[in-house]
Amino acid sequence: MTDLSGLVAGFGRFRENHFETDLFKRLSEQGQAPKVLVLGCCDSRVDPAIILDCAPGDLFVIRNVANLVPPFENSGHYHGTSAALEFGVCNLGVEHIIVLGHAQCGGIRALLEGPPPEVEHSFVRNWMKLADSAREAACSRHTDAKDDLLARDCEKLAILASLENLTTFPWIESRVEAGRLLLHGWYFDIECGMLLANRGGVFEPLRPEKRD
Ligand SMILES: [Zn+2]
Repeated sequence: MTDLSGLVAGFGRFRENHFETDLFKRLSEQGQAPKVLVLGCCDSRVDPAIILDCAPGDLFVIRNVANLVPPFENSGHYHGTSAALEFGVCNLGVEHIIVLGHAQCGGIRALLEGPPPEVEHSFVRNWMKLADSAREAACSRHTDAKDDLLARDCEKLAILASLENLTTFPWIESRVEAGRLLLHGWYFDIECGMLLANRGGVFEPLRPEKRD
């Protein structure tokens, strides 16, 4: 089994670099007040705080398979993502929600190719139904299910579908209409290290400003 001592050593570095600082002292005394909520994928390569080089307290992060937003529902089921959205928006009052998708998403691949055959009741398959409209739209443009362009198309279309679903939550819709909350769709291309942003359905590069 993998040795976990590297994680414990990492915790030591975290204590030095973050915990034993004024920032963390303030965060622990005054509580968190992040202005940005990021909804990212569980994929180990796309940690929002690492990609965006953020400090503790900067981001309220929700992560699930394929960074999907379910539509608003009043059923008595357990809605983990919706509960976290409610907390971020209604309790913390974030000003931005970023749906952060990425290339090579395993959830999107499962949607396109199906889950491993040994999994009888696949939670992933059921969850990924949220991106069915994205799959249908992407498949209408590409024929090969293993086509990388199809997967990339589907990953981006799923971000757009999640942005649409965000507006089905009444407390999100009202804040967006009042200009108190902005919704963004971003896409991290892990192959070329680019960050793209949705501009009216088209994803364009976000370029960091160069500092002198
Ligand atoms: Zn993913």
